[in-house]
Amino acid sequence: MRKMGGKKLHAIMIGFFYQGHIAPFQNLAIKLASSGCAVTFAHNEFVHHMLSKAEGVNVEKADPFLVARRSGLDIRYATISDGFPPDFDRIVNLEQHWEAIFLDFPSRVDKLIGDIIHKDDEAFAHFLVADTFYPWPASIARKYNILNVSFWTQPALMFATYYHYDLLVEKGYLPIKGDEVESKDPAFNTSITKKIVAEAFEQVKQADFILINTVYELEHELVSDMHHNQPTYAVGPLNFTTDVALPKSLWAEADFTSWLDSKPRGSVLYVSFGSLAHSNRQLAEEIANGLLLSGVHFVWVIRDDPQVLPDGFEDESKDQGLIVSWCNQSAVLSNPAIGGFLTHCGWNSILEAIWCGVPMICYPFFADQPSNGELVVDVWKVGINLCDGTSVDRREVAEKIKQLMSAESSNSLRDEMNKMRALMLRALDEDGSMQANFLQFFNDLWDRAEARAEEAEEEVDSD
Ligand code: UDP
Repeated sequence: MRKMGGKKLHAIMIGFFYQGHIAPFQNLAIKLASSGCAVTFAHNEFVHHMLSKAEGVNVEKADPFLVARRSGLDIRYATISDGFPPDFDRIVNLEQHWEAIFLDFPSRVDKLIGDIIHKDDEAFAHFLVADTFYPWPASIARKYNILNVSFWTQPALMFATYYHYDLLVEKGYLPIKGDEVESKDPAFNTSITKKIVAEAFEQVKQADFILINTVYELEHELVSDMHHNQPTYAVGPLNFTTDVALPKSLWAEADFTSWLDSKPRGSVLYVSFGSLAHSNRQLAEEIANGLLLSGVHFVWVIRDDPQVLPDGFEDESKDQGLIVSWCNQSAVLSNPAIGGFLTHCGWNSILEAIWCGVPMICYPFFADQPSNGELVVDVWKVGINLCDGTSVDRREVAEKIKQLMSAESSNSLRDEMNKMRALMLRALDEDGSMQANFLQFFNDLWDRAEARAEEAEEEVDSD
């Protein structure tokens, strides 16, 4: 463990508020602490509230890192408010929430970081680790003269797309033209989402280090190219790097293990569109009828609104499948009964599907999902699209489900998936790329921290 005069580096980590960012970021905290850093991890107050509620533990006393700390890791825990009450719907009210993230949140983060630094004179140096989507890290890191590590939870492909967005526009590749412009444009189509991306990538260009939650072997060319611009490291998949118990779900998880255990190997289709996308009534109707026509066992996660389901569907399908509002997805995907995943192509879902060796049917909605879906279907060939045209039709849904779930017609998908899985497991080995890249980052971080300390000393001497 690298130390300087017995002193540690102290990471100040400010958690992001969407479900898909929680597990990788918490696991990064464990990785940093296991490498000998002190860590102060701050969750948004409402994330703290929801994690505690979902686990059924006392909100006042809850501390996600309790088990980690008991195992000897130096992780301190704090919470920070975004100014809204816990039950304020931050997805439905995206615009209002983000206005506050732009305007009020930075001063709260500033105060928290100032207090942490002020109270801790034991550290060799402090550094900030914040989600790339935040619009304030560069300014705050500059103010406190601390190193700034930006953490990206989508593939390197999306990072590079946003990073070079202006160039892609100049060359005519973006914005995407044609019927599907609205959903496929990676910068979305609303003024607030454009602003989020523009600000984030203005900020990230000033970061000292960029960490990407991707598997090096899958995107090494892009990551190496990025590294020429700014120190960039593929440190994923962080989703599976710790055995320490950590809460990670914003909603209570339904447990249907015994139902799954009663089903034949590979016979159940898992259906989920993640934590942000909303399925509308028409889509839900076609999928519901497609499932009935296929006759395949299923588990369908409908988080937001079971009303989107056609009347009578739950009754009609009760011997065929389950509808749940949330579950432990990685645990479900790793159950031998699961043979396929109908997914919205969120990046974490794709990493989890590969980790469990489960091929996919892709139905992407927005943001990175269409590009992620293309990686799955066209590049890695471990999935198929739900529909070949633009609209979803129940007969086509049934056909695609049968195609994916039949051992014969999905043979080549499963072969490719086994190769991908092996590659991911290899990346996660003790001497695999994940650990090697993380160590490289950690050493480079220390080198920069020491160089800064020397510069500061020289400045003092010359005064
Ligand atoms: N997830 C879960 N239970 C569910 C549905 C999703 O634990 O019932 C988790 C899933 O394992 C993944 C995350 O929620 O880690 C969703 O992240 P992703 O990037 O796939 O999609 P997003 O929600 O950001 O669109």
